[in-house]
Amino acid sequence: MSYPPDKLLYMRIVVLAGGIGGARFLRGLKQAAPDADITVIGNTGDDIHLFGLKVCPDLDTVMYTLGGGINEEQGWGRKDESFHVKEELAAYGVGPEWFGLGDRDFATHIVRTQMLGAGYPLSAVTEALCARWKPGVRLLPMSDDRVETHVAVDMDGERRAIHFQEYWVKLRASVEAQAIVPVGAEQAKPAPGVLEAIAEADVILFPPSNPVVSVGTILAVPGIREAIAEAGVPVVGLSPIVGDAPVRGMADKVLAAVGVESTAAAVATHYGSGLLDGWLVDTVDAGAVGEVEAAGIRCRAVPLMMTDVDATAEMARQALALAGEVRA
Ligand code: GDP
Ligand code: CA
Repeated sequence: MSYPPDKLLYMRIVVLAGGIGGARFLRGLKQAAPDADITVIGNTGDDIHLFGLKVCPDLDTVMYTLGGGINEEQGWGRKDESFHVKEELAAYGVGPEWFGLGDRDFATHIVRTQMLGAGYPLSAVTEALCARWKPGVRLLPMSDDRVETHVAVDMDGERRAIHFQEYWVKLRASVEAQAIVPVGAEQAKPAPGVLEAIAEADVILFPPSNPVVSVGTILAVPGIREAIAEAGVPVVGLSPIVGDAPVRGMADKVLAAVGVESTAAAVATHYGSGLLDGWLVDTVDAGAVGEVEAAGIRCRAVPLMMTDVDATAEMARQALALAGEVRA
C-alpha cells in the first residue's frame, strides 16, 4: 500500500542530510512531493574554521543545490565561481591551499561568521542565509553547538587525530582511518526545531548520504537517534553503496574505520532494524534484498543512480512508497 495522493500533499517529511548525496536526493524529493513540508536536518560535523571564517560545507551544499547556486559538475561550491581571494591569500602565504573557497562562496562564510559573532545561533544564521536562497525546505543544522568530526590516523609513526576535512580533502582519504570521532557530539544538543520536526514527521528519510560522517554524525547528537526510533513513523533509507562501492567519494574508508563492509546490506544492518523500517538498494544489489529483510528491514531493489532530477524523483517516490508499505 502506498500513500494516497491527498496524503502526499501535506505530508511532513524529515530528511537527515550530508552534502552532495543529501542535496541531490532532496532535489528529487521536492519534485516527487512538491507540496510536502520538508525539514532537513543537516550535518555540521564537517564544519571548519578557515581564515577566521566559519564554513559549513554540508549546509551550504544543500542550500546552494536547492537554491540554484550550486556548481553542478563539482556538486559543491558556487557556480560561475572565481578564486581571486584565495590567490591573494596564497600570495601572502596564508593557507590552507587545499580547501577551495571561491569568491562568491566567501561571502556566505563572511555573513555567517559576522552573525555568529553578533550572537546568533547557527540555526538562526542558517535561516537568514536561506532567506536569500529559498531552498524550499526548512534547513536546520543538527545542532547549534560545535561538533567536529576528527579522524584518527597513523602518520609518521604516531597516531594523530586530524580534522575530517584534512583527511578527506587534503589527504583524499589516502591513509587508513583508524577511528572516526565526532568531537563535541556527546555534549551537543539538537538545534531548536530538530526534535519537534522528528516528533511531528509522517515519514523520516535517510538519503544516500555517507552513513558514517554524514548521517552517523547527526545520529551521534544525543536525543536524535532516540527521537527517530521512537517517532513511530516509517524510517526509510537509500543506499549510498552501489555494487559494493560508494557511488562517489570515499565512504568505504570511513565505513572500514567503524568495522562495516562497503555493501548495501552491511550499511542497512549497521543502521539496524531498531532505526530503519525500509531500505532501498540499487538493482545491481538485488541479491542483497534477502539479507536485509532477514535483519528485519523491508527492502526493495530499484535504480538508485541520481543521474538527473527525474531519476532522483523516481527514487524519492520509491522511498515514499516503501514507507507506505511498512506503515503500521
Ligand atoms: P558529502 O557530505 O558531500 O560527502 O555528501 P553526502 O554524505 O550527502 O553523500 C555522499 C554519498 O553519496 C557517497 O557515499 C556516495 O556514494 C553517495 N552518492 C552520490 N551520488 C549517488 C548516486 O547517484 N546514487 C547513490 N545511491 N548514492 C550516491
Ligand atoms: Ca559532508
